[in-house]
Amino acid sequence: MGEVPFGVQPRREDGRLQCLECGRWYRSLAAHLFQSEDTSVDDYRERHGLPATMPLVSIDMSDRLRELARKRRQRGELLPIQDLRDADEIAASGRAGNTRHRETASRPGVRAAHQAGVVKGRTQAHNNARAVLHHTATALGYTDWEDLIRQTRHQSIAAVARVVSRNPRTIAYWRRQILGENWKTEGGRLQPRRAAAYARLDEVFAARGWADLPAALAWAGKHGMRGVAREVGSTQRVLRGWEEHRRPRPAETPA
Ligand SMILES: [Zn+2]
Repeated sequence: MGEVPFGVQPRREDGRLQCLECGRWYRSLAAHLFQSEDTSVDDYRERHGLPATMPLVSIDMSDRLRELARKRRQRGELLPIQDLRDADEIAASGRAGNTRHRETASRPGVRAAHQAGVVKGRTQAHNNARAVLHHTATALGYTDWEDLIRQTRHQSIAAVARVVSRNPRTIAYWRRQILGENWKTEGGRLQPRRAAAYARLDEVFAARGWADLPAALAWAGKHGMRGVAREVGSTQRVLRGWEEHRRPRPAETPA
């Protein structure tokens, strides 16, 4: 299997489409994305640079759906403009391709053979997307895409999305990939409740004359973090989150 260029949706001779997230092949990729990848067709297209008009079902299936849509339109059930988009949605509710795939995939032997391709496909899709994002990042003066994601971690997703001309969900996706599952609590946009807790800590620390957590720890001495937490009426976990949010460590440079 060769490199899949960014913006290309691999399609096999039998009409099946390869999922660029997991590397498996499907008659209805749209249905698979909804059910197994927890992603919308729009996000998938955005992430892999695919045109909005590209149907994510196999050709014979899309013919069948188009025919179905035509009949529904004749019966007055469907507006003409909904045609293509509905094809994906009908496919998602149909689930036929996906069920068939699941039956095949569960057969012993098939599963093991799949696994290698899955890992390979996922890495490939990842690399393709990153190649284009890399150019965006360097054009904006960052070392690479990872550098951009790390350096902009304290900005809102919407702001970053605007700057790089991407869907906000794409930024959220890459923050999760690069910063880890806990990126939200590591300096991303704060939940209102957490923001309020941090604002209160700001006030308490200012009132105490502590510049930062190390200053408070110096005051607490052998009582350490537990002592500080008790003193300010908070928990050690919130204190650490607050410290990290207010005084982020410099971004690690990728190896
Ligand atoms: Zn997949």
